[in-house]
Amino acid sequence: MLVEEKLRPLFNFDDLPEPVHFGNGLTGQDIISVSQFNPDKLDYIFARAQEMRELVERIGSTDLLKGYVLACLFYEPSTRTSASFIAAMERLGGSVIPITQGVEFSSVSKGETLADTIRTLEQYADVIALRHPKLGSAQVAADYANIPIINAGDGPGEHPTQALLDLFTIKEELGRINGLKIAMVGDLRYGRTVHSLTQLLTQYDVSLRFVSPEILRLPMKIMNQVIDAGLDVRETHDVADVIENADVLYVTRVQKERFTDLAQYEEVKNHHEITPELMARAKQNMVIMHPLPRVGEIHYAVDDDPRAAYFRQVKNGMYIRMALLAAVLGKA
Ligand code: ASP
Repeated sequence: MLVEEKLRPLFNFDDLPEPVHFGNGLTGQDIISVSQFNPDKLDYIFARAQEMRELVERIGSTDLLKGYVLACLFYEPSTRTSASFIAAMERLGGSVIPITQGVEFSSVSKGETLADTIRTLEQYADVIALRHPKLGSAQVAADYANIPIINAGDGPGEHPTQALLDLFTIKEELGRINGLKIAMVGDLRYGRTVHSLTQLLTQYDVSLRFVSPEILRLPMKIMNQVIDAGLDVRETHDVADVIENADVLYVTRVQKERFTDLAQYEEVKNHHEITPELMARAKQNMVIMHPLPRVGEIHYAVDDDPRAAYFRQVKNGMYIRMALLAAVLGKA
């Protein structure tokens, strides 16, 4: 064999196909708002989340994100969001820097700015999940960071990963989104999960019912988005008005920490409670959801009702966050 033949390259690099872009445009991206997601991207994430479910059910974990590090920086209390980000990263073989409790023991207590904390953490991590009490803080962090920032709740603003898991849960439970009647109940003014989910739903053909006390109505800006999308929408103060026709009842707590006047909170805190008696009037295949924590909005006697989906919703959060972490790190 001629030496030249032996050294002939196995293939011509010019003939290689264009590199595959993993993550359907999400690789390297920040996840700040649900406005970044169109139905194609949502379908993509939901398909990946279903694969993550199968993977976890079959083998528990994988090493897809081995060698990658997630920093979980939480300036506000959290149980599910922080735990599910950590579980998601660990089930994908990655590791976590958890700054999820006792931020008061970090340099924040010495007066460090969010920008400096973010620029420090990105020296160690590949992606940061951030929860912060200030509206717009996730965008500020993203402006400073060179690695993806995932908004895990910015005050009364948005909670995009929760909205993704909420929508995924609706689809898993009822098999579709279009054509559904969805009622949101509770603190629609300060509830960031309601804000994000409502904005996502404007991309679908759904009917929306908003149930709240007068002072906790949905912000006008979001209501206008719903109206502009041409959706069938109504507001009421009483959950009894919507219980019989709803396909999904999305219940939320009154967000005590956002009130400047606690007397006002006391007035509205017990505005609604979903009881077995109320559930008896609902459709047989209605789904009741809650982003949790609940503080009295759903009676414990409802938990055994097969329509109570809030703990299945919790688990879906881990699958969605696994899908998102893999996507932003280009490993979908
Ligand atoms: N866990 C959700 C959030 O962080 C809902 C809530 O706190 O009421 O927004």
